[in-house]
Amino acid sequence: MKKEKSIPGPVSKAGTIPTRMGTWSTAKPVLKGKCTFCLFCWVFCPEGAISQDEANRKVTFNFEDCKGCGICVRECPTKAIEMVEVEGGR
Ligand code: SF4
Ligand code: SF4
Repeated sequence: MKKEKSIPGPVSKAGTIPTRMGTWSTAKPVLKGKCTFCLFCWVFCPEGAISQDEANRKVTFNFEDCKGCGICVRECPTKAIEMVEVEGGR
C-alpha cells in the first residue's frame, strides 16, 4: 500500500482550505421572526456557522465563519431569518 504524502500549504483534510468566510461577505443573517428551534438552518448551513443554544432554544450565528449565502434564510420554515447587507465585511 502506498503511503500518503503530505501536501505543503493551506490544504487540510479532504482537500478543504480552512478560511474565515465572514471577512469578505456582504450580507449577514439576522434572527427577526419566530424561531421554533427546528434546526433546519443548522443542518443546511454549509459553513457550520450556526450554533445551537439549547438552554434558550434558539440559534446563534458565528459571523467569522458565515459567508452570507442565505441558505439558512431559504430553509427556515417560519421565515424567522433575514439577510442584512453589510459593508466591507465585518
Ligand atoms: S448565510 Fe449561509 S453561511 Fe451564513 S449562517 Fe446562513 S447558511 Fe450559514
Ligand atoms: S430554521 Fe428557522 S425556525 Fe428553525 S431553528 Fe433555524 S431560525 Fe429557528
